[in-house]
Amino acid sequence: MNELQRSKIILKILNKTYPKTPIPLKHKNIFTLLISVLLSAQCTDVNVNNVTKNIYPKYNRPEHFVKLGRKKIEKLIRSIGIFRIKAKSVYNLSKTLVEKYNGKVPKTFKELEELPGVGHKTASVVMSQGFGHPAFPVDTHIHRLAQRWGLTDGKNVVQTEEDLKRLFPKRYWNKLHLQIIYYGREYCKARECYGISCKICTTCYPNRKKPIKTKKA
Ligand code: SF4
Repeated sequence: MNELQRSKIILKILNKTYPKTPIPLKHKNIFTLLISVLLSAQCTDVNVNNVTKNIYPKYNRPEHFVKLGRKKIEKLIRSIGIFRIKAKSVYNLSKTLVEKYNGKVPKTFKELEELPGVGHKTASVVMSQGFGHPAFPVDTHIHRLAQRWGLTDGKNVVQTEEDLKRLFPKRYWNKLHLQIIYYGREYCKARECYGISCKICTTCYPNRKKPIKTKKA
């Protein structure tokens, strides 16, 4: 079975397993989605949601965070990992949005990736989940699953993104990246799999006998 055949089987199973794909990070608007994605680096979505549920009812526009200033932002997010660095990014990002974009989140990859603290993955999540633009954000979890499923030979997330975009039609990207994230959280966890336990692998690799090893992103 080649990778294209595997990709079709995987798509079918994921569509059946996760027909609906709600966005895991709670937000009020595209700006708060951007902030939540930024806060979620090295931190779980649950943790981010627990913190932001007390922030977003009151502070949900770039102007609010500029007014708060760095120190107060730090206090609000201090239960999140690397909160000082993140508070600095949230402040600088908000300031840039107010000064350069009239308080709006820009709609292009180029502009998003130029914002403080925003890399390609964060920009991809905002383009996809916020603006509905076809994108394929690849984090370490998607990277791991794509390797286990034989969809990439997995040197880094950049290559994995290219491989996944090549294999799956554009119209599936936005839903699919969330389905892969859900599947990784529920079944295909980092330390718990031997590559022979569930339907995706038993269908794609009926002869697989040994545990598979994946390369880190
Ligand atoms: S068998 Fe393991 S590697 Fe394959 S999909 Fe299931 S959990 Fe993931």
